[in-house]
Amino acid sequence: MTSTRSIKFLLVDDLDANLVALAGLLERPGLELLMARSGREALEILLEHEVALAFLDVQMPEMSGFELAELMRGTERTRDVPIIFLTAGTVDQKRRIRGYETGAVDFLPKPIDPEILLNKATTFFELAKRREELRESEARLRAANEELERKNAELAESGVQKDRFLAVLAHELRNPIAPVLTGLEMMVTADNCPKEIVDLAEMMRRQIGQMVHLINDLLDVSRINTGKIALRMERVDINEVVTEAMESARTFIDSRGHELSFVSENDSLAVEGDRHRLFQVVSNMLSNAAKYSPPNGKIDVKSGIDGDGNAYVTVRDNGEGISEENLPKIFEMFEQVDSSRQEGLGIGLTLVMNLMELHGGGVGATSEGLGKGSEFRIWLPALVQRKEEKPVILNRPENRQFAPAKVMVVDDGKSTADIIVMFLNLEGMETRVAYNGEEAVRVAREFKPEMIFMDLGMPKMDGYQAAEEIRKLDPDVIMIAVSGWGREEDKRRSKEAGFDGHAVKPVEPEDLRQFLSLIC
Ligand code: ADP
Repeated sequence: MTSTRSIKFLLVDDLDANLVALAGLLERPGLELLMARSGREALEILLEHEVALAFLDVQMPEMSGFELAELMRGTERTRDVPIIFLTAGTVDQKRRIRGYETGAVDFLPKPIDPEILLNKATTFFELAKRREELRESEARLRAANEELERKNAELAESGVQKDRFLAVLAHELRNPIAPVLTGLEMMVTADNCPKEIVDLAEMMRRQIGQMVHLINDLLDVSRINTGKIALRMERVDINEVVTEAMESARTFIDSRGHELSFVSENDSLAVEGDRHRLFQVVSNMLSNAAKYSPPNGKIDVKSGIDGDGNAYVTVRDNGEGISEENLPKIFEMFEQVDSSRQEGLGIGLTLVMNLMELHGGGVGATSEGLGKGSEFRIWLPALVQRKEEKPVILNRPENRQFAPAKVMVVDDGKSTADIIVMFLNLEGMETRVAYNGEEAVRVAREFKPEMIFMDLGMPKMDGYQAAEEIRKLDPDVIMIAVSGWGREEDKRRSKEAGFDGHAVKPVEPEDLRQFLSLIC
């Protein structure tokens, strides 16, 4: 790569003849020679041009070469310009030192030896050329980088626009569907409607159902991409989700003659997740397995806990399989291995991946190759197993006897609270219930319970806050924390907050009895 800009040398001498002779020796393509007859002229040139090397005559009237060099050293712009002094006759040691102090790189005695001069000039010329080339390629690189950043920003913007467009499109497509569905429903249920029409309407209803499904997927993906999806987290048994998804996909799976099985290594498999979204994920895997397997295939579903403490679900089929090269692509938006083969938009797996990532988990696929079936696996952190979640008594009060005891239950989940109350009533307790933190404090003030089962996660005033308020009313009341979590750190937190026990949901009769033994 050659530089496009010429290299500049400055020649300073008060005698024209010397300048001309010097220039004659130095001339070469790509080199511009700037000439000055005095120090002042030289400074003016230096202000305007970037100079790669300066030849300074030492003896000049007004300003000597040394004085000019000193001024150059004191100015930011010219500080690093290499200088070669041209001296008449020999230079004594003292003057030489002064010259080097002002930054000279060399001395050339007059009359100038052309060979030495050319040697030195060539070295500086080549050096300056390299530097210039480097600078130019740096500038080119910077420009390319800026262009890349601009393109990136454009791409990001078009991505946002695409997501907005998809969201609007999906909305607009969904709106007219509701009345069509209602109309079809009316046709199907109308008295005296000929059977052919009913069949037709049912077929249309199925087709529209498919369409609604696709539109909803589209809407979901665009919501996820724009960060507008929020999971409703709760304690979910993933095995229940799998069973529900299998029931819901059953008609489609049966229609293709597939055999479906489900085994789990665990009776129940608790995770913290959004039940509806997890159902969507498993349904998607099941319908793909059915879709991408020739009729009368075999679909095996399995669940369990892996070595990393994640709950997993695998869906294995013996269908068409996926080639090695296509495996990494199938999770990309709108990616279909062969779009002519099946209906669908190629967004199902993108949605599965996004939803699993939102759950702090993931999805993976394996296949031994075309025609050899595939296995899809999802995973997400498992909650500690029930077996290890035995309720624990954290503080044991001494010599307390109450009979019959007054027990209060606090939980914002009405059905959870009511079941615990029902059981306590059966055990002969006198009970009260509160469905939020504020109510709990109010009821506790009047009812003066001896024991309280307190849900921790409640909106506004949570279990910790409510417990703190109640403790102020009655420092001796026994309080049991009821939580979806049973890890050591959760129990420690309950203990630190002054709870006397920690129970993990769902609280079973046996757990309650154990706590009641504290007061009865
Ligand atoms: P769609 O099913 O709408 O095409 P998906 O995102 O669900 O979109 O799947 C993307 C692609 O992955 C499919 O087009 C198909 O080629 C491949 N694929 C998904 N599941 C399976 C499976 N169980 N067996 C073989 N190929 C599959």
